[in-house]
Amino acid sequence: MADQLNLVFFPSSYSELFSAWSRYPIAVPYAGGTALIREQGRPILELPSIILSLEKLEEMSRISRSERYLEIGAMAKLSQIIDLGKIVPAALRHCLENIAGPQLRNMATIGGSLCFRGGRLDSAAALTALDAQCELRGAQSSRWISASRFFAEPGLSALKPQELLTRIRIPLDSWDYSAYKKFTGQAGRSKVVIFLAKTQKNVLSDIRIVYKTGTLWRNKDSESILAGKQLPLNHRIAADFIKNWETFASGLHNVDELSRKELINFIEININNLSD
Ligand SMILES: Cc1cc2nc3c(=O)[nH]c(=O)nc-3n(C[C@H](O)[C@H](O)[C@H](O)COP(=O)(O)OP(=O)(O)OC[C@H]3O[C@@H](n4cnc5c(N)ncnc54)[C@H](O)[C@@H]3O)c2cc1C
Repeated sequence: MADQLNLVFFPSSYSELFSAWSRYPIAVPYAGGTALIREQGRPILELPSIILSLEKLEEMSRISRSERYLEIGAMAKLSQIIDLGKIVPAALRHCLENIAGPQLRNMATIGGSLCFRGGRLDSAAALTALDAQCELRGAQSSRWISASRFFAEPGLSALKPQELLTRIRIPLDSWDYSAYKKFTGQAGRSKVVIFLAKTQKNVLSDIRIVYKTGTLWRNKDSESILAGKQLPLNHRIAADFIKNWETFASGLHNVDELSRKELINFIEININNLSD
């Protein structure tokens, strides 16, 4: 019986990987392993009985850049992405730099951080705000979907059974204003907020705020209050914006009072930076 075996596969091509996966549908992809072995204080680790190691799939570690996009293979380590420097949008760089310590960032992959099943991790906030696209591959097909659709289901992702996240494509838009804040908590439960704004001839052309708890929250209503407004913002518009966020924050599930206050405080500081 397959589920009594202990097997580890090291495929070096997608066809090898999907052929093993179709023979053993319960097999689990293994990237950096940091989530899979997390919180196991025992001398002998408990691992899934059938593992598909992704480490020999060279294509999944590739990083490339065009004029408009940064494309990162799902097996790229968090530290490798940080080391790319300023080409990485600040919102993502700051998120990654604040994940655990260097040892973990040298092991953990961007794909693993997006496919973690215990709740949204920090990188999800940045990639959603940046409107990144995710490439998902199955045995017979591949498709691209937006990061926000990838995370649409609470606790899960858009991955179908026996589907792999292979690449992440990040638009290299130039954001004139980018702010990031992390409020501490355990992985999957830490809270992160990203605030991005873009201007054209002193007019706000795009604004995105994404708040991550175990879930991702985006208040698109508030974004439309500001789109097209002249900078610096006048006080009445800034006050309407904050009011809108206070109402939105009061409806967030599983978010305590202190966290709501931290969130509103962060939004207030950043909106004041854009006001006269
Ligand atoms: C001590 C500690 C502190 C941490 N602190 C933070 C923190 O502050 N903020 C934060 O955001 N995170 C934090 N984390 C979580 C960390 O970011 C994740 O453990 C890590 O990103 C997972 O990446 P991995 O490559 O190790 O994934 P793995 O453990 O290998 O895999 C994680 C899950 O994703 C699946 N998977 C992996 N890659 C793919 C793929 N390409 N396609 C489909 N499925 C895939 C695996 O099957 C598994 O279910 C912390 C973890 C630890 C251990």
